[in-house]
Amino acid sequence: MKVKMILPALTEAESPFWRPIKYSLFPPLGLATLAAYLLPGDEIDLQDQHVEKLKLDDDPDLVVIQVYITNAYRAYAIADHYRAKGAYVILGGLHVTSLPFEAMPHADTIFTGPGEDTFPKFLSDFRNGHPQKMYRSSIRTLEKIPPIRRDLIKRSLYLVPNSIVVTRGCPHHCSFCYKDAFFEGGKTFYTQQVDDALAEIDRLPGRHLYFLDDHLLGNATFATSLFDGMKGMNRVFQGAATVDSILRGNLVEKAAEAGLRSLFVGFETFSPQNLKQSNKKQNLEKDYSKAVNRLHDLGVMINGSFVFGLDDDDKDVFKRTVDWGVQNAITTSTYHVLTPYPSTELFNNMESQGRILTKNWDLYDTRKVVYKTIGLTARELEDGYWWAYKEFYSWSNIFNGSMRHPSNAHKLKHFCYAGGWKKFEPVWNFLIKTKNLNETLPLLEGVLTKINQKRKDQNPDLFNLQKSALQNQLYEKA
Ligand code: SF4
Repeated sequence: MKVKMILPALTEAESPFWRPIKYSLFPPLGLATLAAYLLPGDEIDLQDQHVEKLKLDDDPDLVVIQVYITNAYRAYAIADHYRAKGAYVILGGLHVTSLPFEAMPHADTIFTGPGEDTFPKFLSDFRNGHPQKMYRSSIRTLEKIPPIRRDLIKRSLYLVPNSIVVTRGCPHHCSFCYKDAFFEGGKTFYTQQVDDALAEIDRLPGRHLYFLDDHLLGNATFATSLFDGMKGMNRVFQGAATVDSILRGNLVEKAAEAGLRSLFVGFETFSPQNLKQSNKKQNLEKDYSKAVNRLHDLGVMINGSFVFGLDDDDKDVFKRTVDWGVQNAITTSTYHVLTPYPSTELFNNMESQGRILTKNWDLYDTRKVVYKTIGLTARELEDGYWWAYKEFYSWSNIFNGSMRHPSNAHKLKHFCYAGGWKKFEPVWNFLIKTKNLNETLPLLEGVLTKINQKRKDQNPDLFNLQKSALQNQLYEKA
């Protein structure tokens, strides 16, 4: 059987603000995970439109399309195209789960929730000639799932090809998050067996890993065993976790010993009112600076996530947030305009209050205001969002943030990572165009090398010398 698996590009891919590097960072794993259930004799073509041009002139028997909110219209058009050619088209993913009846007219079969139980069932039905119109996931387990078909991933097109996911979901219930809607009807947080996760890590070449889990520290027992097992594997890795998990116990120390070098942390807002509105209980009354210092003491860089536009925000929220990030030496910041994704608690609340302004899903890209704001106008919110990015990533603030670290090694690391990420766009674009992105991985691994906290290198010239060396290397690549 000829199978085509497609991840259509998000609509941002055609925006003037699109940063190709952001979408070429790591391979998404959803489709390659499902591909593991196909037969060895099946001919599979897996395409990620973020990193390659879609081939649409082929004639597959089965087309599998993964749908997010801002690729939904493009996904439907691709689905219609293949159905017109006679292929059997199936749609699944976050957006299909949120709005199955919107997706249905574009598909022969749709899937809601994760696909580990339903996709094999569908394949068996399909091969026997009686597939159903809809499959709803209810059994949630990662036991005995077959290894991801990594051979289908075009590794050279990504900066960090070793993405990995060892859990599903998250133990929390933030009202703006897709998680509860996606996992409705079964467990909302579950993990692989530790031995399976370690075996998957062992199969990955090189040193660097990018954990895509929503909350890598979400199950302390699992994470402890995972990190114990990873000690001595000589890995460096990046992942995501919550403020409370950083402050609790010694899990984050274990993660750092196992190779954690950079963590995505959802700070989101400093306002207790906003945290309550978001049901983000895990952040309430938590000392954000203490969490930050704990990570810095372990030599772990921080990517802080912040949301603007919750009801308690005012015009000063942008400056407050940027200043806090710089003063606390946050390495990189990700800002979002609050976005009420359909089927989330936030969306349902806003809809019942008549606050949803549009259901054009292309606009739901976390850069645009799609609801009636309260504490500031839509214009102020969008302008403030762009201002925050510009200000946080000004050279002076990158420098000021870097200089907050006590050791020169950490100053250098911060400066190189933040500067390299945001200030070398033409270089990244060139590397993507020439398909050489993957060759910069050793450079990234170098930046992620463990900092020896005890050695406080006080020679400022060394910092400047190393900084120039890295800039030169980046320019030479171009
Ligand atoms: S902690 Fe993160 S992943 Fe978990 S529910 Fe909240 S926003 Fe979603």
